[in-house]
Amino acid sequence: MSDKDVTEVLQADAEGIARAARILAAGGLVAVPTETVYGLAARADSAEAVAKIYAAKGRPDFNPLIVHVRDLAQAEKIGEFDARARDLVERFWPGPLTLVLPLREDAKVAGAVTAGLPTIALRQPAHKVMRAVLEETGSPLAAPSANRSEEISPTRPEHVIASLGKACPVVLDGGASQKGLESTIVALRPDAAWSLLRPGPVSHETLERILGAETGADNASIEAPGQLARHYSPGKPLRLSAAEVAPDEFFIGFGGQQGDCNLSAGGDLNEAAAQLYECLHQAAASDKPRIAVAPIPYGEVGRAINDRLRRAATRQN
Ligand code: AMP
Ligand code: MG
Repeated sequence: MSDKDVTEVLQADAEGIARAARILAAGGLVAVPTETVYGLAARADSAEAVAKIYAAKGRPDFNPLIVHVRDLAQAEKIGEFDARARDLVERFWPGPLTLVLPLREDAKVAGAVTAGLPTIALRQPAHKVMRAVLEETGSPLAAPSANRSEEISPTRPEHVIASLGKACPVVLDGGASQKGLESTIVALRPDAAWSLLRPGPVSHETLERILGAETGADNASIEAPGQLARHYSPGKPLRLSAAEVAPDEFFIGFGGQQGDCNLSAGGDLNEAAAQLYECLHQAAASDKPRIAVAPIPYGEVGRAINDRLRRAATRQN
């Protein structure tokens, strides 16, 4: 295709993966599928490549990026892993858990990736297409969600294109993201302290069973500057825990509450997480000027769903 005014969509076959890896290795941007959401990837060791991510997303430069790795060995060249970190890796990698650890002094990571913090966020994703891309590219990849800053995260290639347009030159099509929600982010601190910086598919309950009671949560907002109050915005007012719906509202239902889009008719929270951004994209695109969402329970991944909905409901000012 010669027309660079449109985003090129690559099939996730051997040829598509090889082409994506070549573009990334040469310092380009590619939107890649992961099991959480689609990521806008660039090599983490190149300042020029990382700068392209911030420019394409319109992302504030104080908001650091997650670095995706091929395996633990590659991660250990970037972050300082203690016994707790290795235990979490053993249990959850590859998968939707990001660890924030001290940055190694000799780490080959562009300064913009950490936004100047002495720590680094690392994850080994599980999606087989993303794993193949990491394997073939050879470098760790910085990859925030592939949407304009503050907009709804993408779980399908169409969402990436709708949000970024040609600011994203290439998308690798790996189908719909299975988890559908960004990774859980945990910061490990000295002396067994830890805090949950972002709720996600690996639940707070599960982490407390492994790490003990959460400590230092009071610092979380300062330490995860990307956790801005306004995020995941559908661009119109959104009302939470709605028992009834007004005629001008697009209703996102759950369980028995049907709605224009249902997160999970059977009341399954994992299914609801996977459907959340799909329903928010539909609500944003609908003719209805407002959105209402049924109450969602807080247990397990419900906490992460409610966290995203609360931010989606936060208006500017
Ligand atoms: P996104 O890439 O859009 O999923 O957002 C990445 C999230 O990771 C943001 O909320 C960042 O604040 C957070 N993050 C990345 N690196 C760090 C770090 N070193 N310390 C704390 N949070 C981080
Ligand atoms: Mg994001």
